[in-house]
Amino acid sequence: MDINKIREQFPILNRKIKGKDMIYLDNTATSQTPMPVVDAITDMYTQTKANVHRGVSTISQEATDMQEATRRRVAQWINASSEQEIIFTRGTTEAINLVASSFGNLLENGDEIILTTMEHHANIVPWQLLGQRKRIILRIVPINEVGELNLNAYRSLFNERTKLVAVCHVSNVLGTVNPIKDIIDFAHSNSVPVLVDGAQAIPHIKVDVRDLDADFYAFSAHKMYGPTGIGILYGKKRWLEMMPPYQGGGEMIANVSFDNTTFAELPFKFEAGTPDFVGIAALNKAIDFIEEIGYDNIAAHEHALLTYTTERMLKIPGMKIFGTSENKSAVISFLIGNEHHYDIGMLLDTLGIEVRTGHHCAQPLMRSLGIEGTVRASFAVYNTFEEADKFIAAVERVAAMLK
Ligand code: PMP
Repeated sequence: MDINKIREQFPILNRKIKGKDMIYLDNTATSQTPMPVVDAITDMYTQTKANVHRGVSTISQEATDMQEATRRRVAQWINASSEQEIIFTRGTTEAINLVASSFGNLLENGDEIILTTMEHHANIVPWQLLGQRKRIILRIVPINEVGELNLNAYRSLFNERTKLVAVCHVSNVLGTVNPIKDIIDFAHSNSVPVLVDGAQAIPHIKVDVRDLDADFYAFSAHKMYGPTGIGILYGKKRWLEMMPPYQGGGEMIANVSFDNTTFAELPFKFEAGTPDFVGIAALNKAIDFIEEIGYDNIAAHEHALLTYTTERMLKIPGMKIFGTSENKSAVISFLIGNEHHYDIGMLLDTLGIEVRTGHHCAQPLMRSLGIEGTVRASFAVYNTFEEADKFIAAVERVAAMLK
């Protein structure tokens, strides 16, 4: 794997921050976008912008073909049974809201949903909103001291009212890679479907929804080198067919009258309004990017960066890393002594290091860790060991400054 060749595709990586070379370590929040994706967006805006599914015109058909080619590609890429199981949304957040709202209609007062302590707010709040419409009980799986789910506790939460498990594949704070297949197997042995929040898995791990046997799998394009504003909801056809539409409008209907409206077939039943067809078309190029490098190479490189950086950081006095699971993706959440995460992040920024500070949309997790927030550095395939060295040196400097 030639990192320099990879980096050439990301002009943004050459930018300066406050006069210093930028070191971008906020990949968990969003990854950067390679030029083939940017070019695909430009090409479509300059050559093929016409609304999809609406016309006999050549240009509209071309645009539709480009959008639908991505749908087929995504289906094949994550091994869905059919492209009808691939729904385009605005992101992981909207994908989960869709399920909470629509699948939520199938639930009854007193039904229970199992979540975990490490969920992003995107996989908590939609279920709470559903709880405002119906009396839904949320059961929460705790974590252990290294940031792994307590699977015994998980198994003990099931009863005859359990109707869904909603769990992240990878934690955006702790980096923990959850044993998702075992989690799904156990839920299925109790006839309970599972929604997987895959936002932090898809950039790093080959996902095979049929091998996992996930009922729903949600992810965002912008975290996997793709455009902003696009998410994917994979759902098993048998669930999607049972579920009512999420939003109403154009594209999602078969026939509209003031007396009786009928809905389109899958996946269009869930895609009201004009989709971000430009971004969807360009998403194909992000999948090319990942496939050309290969998940094995991505994972090996990121894992090496994680191990190298973690070992050195732990030598810094007062360093505390949150999330030390064996099976961990390249995310390092940390604090130094009693310093505020915000101060550490601000000082790192003056050195050109772009990290994230705060609760990372996981306040219940922060509460369980007894902290308000962390500094989070996260790697992508284009990060180098030289950048890791500069990052470690900067953290050392900041630790010394704050002492
Ligand atoms: N779940 C997890 C685990 C995430 O990390 C994120 C993004 N930070 C989301 C959901 C929400 O993704 P989006 O903002 O793209 O909808």
